[in-house]
Amino acid sequence: MKEKLTPYLKELQADAAAIARQYIPGAEEAQLEQNVYDDPLMEDEHEVVPGLVHKYPNRALVKVSYQCAAHCRFCTRIRQIGSAAGTLTETDIDNIVVYLHNHPQIDDVILSGGDPLYTARLTMQLLVRLRNVANIKVMRIGTRLPLQSPGSFDTPLLQQLLALIDDIGRQKPFYILLHINHPAELTDDALRVIAMLRQHRVTLLSQTVFLKGVNVSFEVMYELFTCLYHAGVMPYYLYHCDAVKGIQHFAGSIDEETEIATRLAAALSGIACPTYVVDVQHGYGKIPVPLNFNGGRDFRGEFSPDHTEC
Ligand SMILES: *Cc1c(COP(=O)(O)O)cnc(C)c1O
Ligand code: SF4
Repeated sequence: MKEKLTPYLKELQADAAAIARQYIPGAEEAQLEQNVYDDPLMEDEHEVVPGLVHKYPNRALVKVSYQCAAHCRFCTRIRQIGSAAGTLTETDIDNIVVYLHNHPQIDDVILSGGDPLYTARLTMQLLVRLRNVANIKVMRIGTRLPLQSPGSFDTPLLQQLLALIDDIGRQKPFYILLHINHPAELTDDALRVIAMLRQHRVTLLSQTVFLKGVNVSFEVMYELFTCLYHAGVMPYYLYHCDAVKGIQHFAGSIDEETEIATRLAAALSGIACPTYVVDVQHGYGKIPVPLNFNGGRDFRGEFSPDHTEC
């Protein structure tokens, strides 16, 4: 996966190591890794028609393209991102719509990729088709664009896409899932985009990955989820890094992460606390990790921040 950053990120990463490590390739990428796979989540096997991953009976994931505004070094789809292949054609969209019609047990479609907001025109074409599939009751879009290129939300194209999403939001619940890993990503510009998104008929959720050298810290995670909570974004999932080849230098220890997730659950409002999950290899799906409240440890007073500034 080639290095790719937006001008905005180039500036931001110069002063923030937690941003630089997410985007600047390091020597560790070449290291030998064992027991890892290009596609441990078995997405390719569940790709029932080009671009549509149907792994769970009632939910399906559409990969709109393999294009993003910037390339994250820890991306689960590092095997694909940046490749021109994978951009949905009109025929692909037709086939996806037919498949969804023919599988009425699917009630929830997640647009992913690639970043669906980065390929706004194509995403609009897809959305106008998907909104009319009667069995699809819920729609979602996963994105990192507000954190990679907040300025692009001022363009007429993005405004048009958001107007369409707002209109679909009258019909069915629409979720925007913000992938965010560190409070340094919540700049004033990013927070302005989030505030603007809140003016639309969408529910804002977030997803976060534990990344070694970036955010494996109770204090960092506490600040991240508190700031998201204050911004009107509900933390949804907190992932262990997938067993994907080429990103294992980011993978931490499950025991250490469980400890952090447990302390977060003790310290945060339920509204502000994501579910810690492992997307188990070989396609078992996302499994919540049991927290470590056993052993009678007393969490009271373990962490009482004076004030989180956001
Ligand atoms: C994560 C994921 C979903 C959605 O899972 P939820 O638990 O409903 O958020 C659907 N399909 C695939 C392939 C996924 O990886
Ligand atoms: S924006 Fe998302 S899909 Fe694109 S490289 Fe980053 S993590 Fe991967």
